[in-house]
Parts: sequence; C-alpha cells; structure tokens
Amino acid sequence: MVCLDFSLTPEQEKLKNIAKEFAEKELAPKARELDKNPVFPRDLLKRICELGIGVGAIIPKEYGGNAIGHLARILVNIEIAKASAFMGLALQTIPIGLWVLLHFGNEEQKKKYIPEVAKGEKIACLAATEPTGGSDIANVNTVAKKVGNNYVVNGSKVFITLAPESDVCLFTAKTEGGVSLFVVEKGTEGLILGPADEREGLRAAKVGGIRFKDCKIPEENLVGKEGQGLRAALKGITEVGRPGNIAMAVGISEAVFERTLQFLKDRKLYGGKALAGLQGIQFTLADMYMEIEASKLLAYKVGWLLDQGKTGVEIGKEIAATKAYTSEVAKKVAFKAISLCGAYGTLPGFDLIRYLRDALETDASAGANNVCRMLLGRELTGILSLGG
Ligand SMILES: Cc1cc2nc3c(=O)[nH]c(=O)nc-3n(C[C@H](O)[C@H](O)[C@H](O)COP(=O)(O)OP(=O)(O)OC[C@H]3O[C@@H](n4cnc5c(N)ncnc54)[C@H](O)[C@@H]3O)c2cc1C
Repeated sequence: MVCLDFSLTPEQEKLKNIAKEFAEKELAPKARELDKNPVFPRDLLKRICELGIGVGAIIPKEYGGNAIGHLARILVNIEIAKASAFMGLALQTIPIGLWVLLHFGNEEQKKKYIPEVAKGEKIACLAATEPTGGSDIANVNTVAKKVGNNYVVNGSKVFITLAPESDVCLFTAKTEGGVSLFVVEKGTEGLILGPADEREGLRAAKVGGIRFKDCKIPEENLVGKEGQGLRAALKGITEVGRPGNIAMAVGISEAVFERTLQFLKDRKLYGGKALAGLQGIQFTLADMYMEIEASKLLAYKVGWLLDQGKTGVEIGKEIAATKAYTSEVAKKVAFKAISLCGAYGTLPGFDLIRYLRDALETDASAGANNVCRMLLGRELTGILSLGG
C-alpha cells in the first residue's frame, strides 16, 4: 500500500503550468520596471484571477472563487513569485480578508464583499499591525466605540499590503467586548488609506499605513461577534497569509538559484573553464539546492495538510516552522548567489539585489520569523516564552 505520494494531480500540474507561462510571459518582463517605478498593476492581477489561479484560489465557487485548493495555490504562487515577488505578496495578502469573511462573516457580508475581490475586480486588505509592534498583535490601540447603531473608529495601522489600493479593508479594533474585526469600504468618511511607504523590497505591493479619524461604521460591518477579532485575524494570517509567504519565499529562492546556475555555467575563467565546474562553487550550489528542495517539500506539505481540512490551530507548528525556514532560506540563497556571481551579482540588470531585497521582506511579513520560532518553542515545550 502506498501511503506517501509526492505526485501532483493532472489538475495541479495544469494550474502550475498556466501560472508559469503567465508569469514568464507577462509578469517577468515588467518586474524590473515595477520595482524601479512602483505602481501596482491591477490589470495583471485581474488577468491572473481570470486564469482561475488568483485571489479566488481557495474561495468556494459559490462566492466567485476557483476552489483549486491550498496546495495548488502554493504551486501557483511559487511560479508567480519567481517572476515578480510583489505579486506573490498581493496573492498572499488579498485573500486573507476573504478567508476571514468566509469563516466569520454572515451571509450578507460574504455575498457583498467576497465575489468582486475573488475575481480581481476589487482589492482587499487585512489590517492588524499597529505602530506599537506587529508581533504583539493582541495589543490593539485602534478603538471602535459603539455610538447608537454605529461604531466610531480612531487609530492607525502600519505596513498594510496594498493599503492605498484597497477598496475593502478588514481591520482589528478594540471594542467593549474585546478585540473585534470590522469591514469598511474605501470612501468612508474618516478612513485614510495610504500613502504607500518608501520600501526597499516588494515595492509595487504598495505597503502603507491606514488611519481612522472619527470614522463612522454601521454595526452591520462588525464581522463575527465582538471579541472574536483576534481569533478571526489569526485564522486568516495562519491559514492563508503564512502559506502565501511560504510560496513567495520559495519562488524567490528558485528564481535566484536558476539565474545563478545559468550564470555560473556561462561564465568562463581559467582558460575557458566554466565557474560552475569548480568544486568550491559546486559545494555552495549543492547547499543552496538542498535547502531549496527542503523548502519546497515543507511548503507542499503545508498545502497538503490544509487540503486535508486541518486548521491553523491544528497545524500551527508545521506552518510556523515552514514560514520561518523558507524565509531564512530565501534570504540566505539570495545572499550566497550575489557572492557567487562576483561583481555581476550586484548589477541591477541581473536582479539578484531585487530578489534579496524582496527576500528580506519575507521575514517580518505574515508574522516575523522569530515569532514563528516563539510559536514553535511553545508547541515543543509547552511553555510560552513571553514575559521572561
Ligand atoms: C512586506 C510586508 C507586508 C505586510 N503586510 C501586512 C498586512 O497586509 N497586514 C498587516 O496587518 N501587517 C502587515 N505587515 C506587518 C507585519 O505583520 C509585521 O511587520 C510583523 O508582524 C512584525 O511586526 P513589526 O514589524 O512591528 O516588528 P516588531 O513586532 O517590532 O518585531 C521586531 C523584531 O523583533 C522580533 N520579535 C518580536 N517579538 C519577539 C519575541 N517574542 N521573541 C523574539 N523576537 C521577537 C521580531 O521577529 C522582529 O525581528 C507586513 C509587513 C511586511 C514587511
């Protein structure tokens, strides 16, 4: 009896190939320019969604999604991130809010907000991080005060992917009943989306702040019940955000490795010998390959576990380990690659510095690597290390 099967289904292979072809033909040629002069290409996001491999990947068809599954989403996002990591970040973060609405929203909210975002017609963000520290996610200082049938919101969020581009924003805020989750639409008075920060990595993903200034929101916009906000946000971050980040990191590692290997085969020294033929170089390549292969297998396992119906609570350990590992590998691989390519490694036309800058962003995004280590430590020892 075969218990462990590493093969992909024909459908998964097909979706991966669709993503690869799109990424190579339509994303890769624009990636350098979009890094230099960052604008978020909504048209390209829409095209990815039309191909059935975008924001709606894990959203049920009845809400405008494609229901291709978590493993297929990871496979597809790896291909997209290989060509342009910022689009990998967009596919990582936009569905988080949809997932949260799917599991905590009421039917009216699901029908109102999910389909247009799943089809790439609108953009959504989930805003949890505050200036007081993203790792301390429970320390929410944004306040939603109940006044009659409305909530009046004051506070600010930072480092929110696509903040200035978002049409729909889900956010955490403190209410009388604890931390709660709300949904608000662009154009609501007192809601200031953006501007984007000047960042060094994933630049076209337009990460920026959000402010609420006496922003009046009807009580129907509460998602779930008061006090469920943290649980809801963490479900989205763990089951959708971290797997997205994992795929982005693997995509960066693979792209860097492929470029570097090709360069080392082409580069001839010592009377026409390829650099790739030097044992010292091969050892580094071998190390890079081992870590990327391990990253990929861990990533696939996370997708597979989620497809088995496991929740973020049940497989928090596997997800945290994979998130931190794949991010560390992406950073390390990009760093080593630049060294292997000598002075060519830092030329802008070679893109390795862009990939390194993008790789560095995979650490903080979706729960910092150290926070993943902290979660792992708690799972392994039964002791939460916070508080000394
Ligand atoms: C590209 C990008 C996109 C993002 N998109 C979003 C988004 O869409 N929505 C959103 O809400 N947020 C988003 N974030 C914010 C992200 O969630 C936070 O950056 C992250 O949670 C870390 O918070 P911080 O940056 O405030 O760092 P801090 O929390 O201040 O942490 C700083 C450092 O301390 C370490 N650290 C923290 N706690 C511990 C501990 N207990 N033990 C050991 N080390 C610790 C961290 O690992 C980190 O290295 C994004 C961030 C990035 C970089």
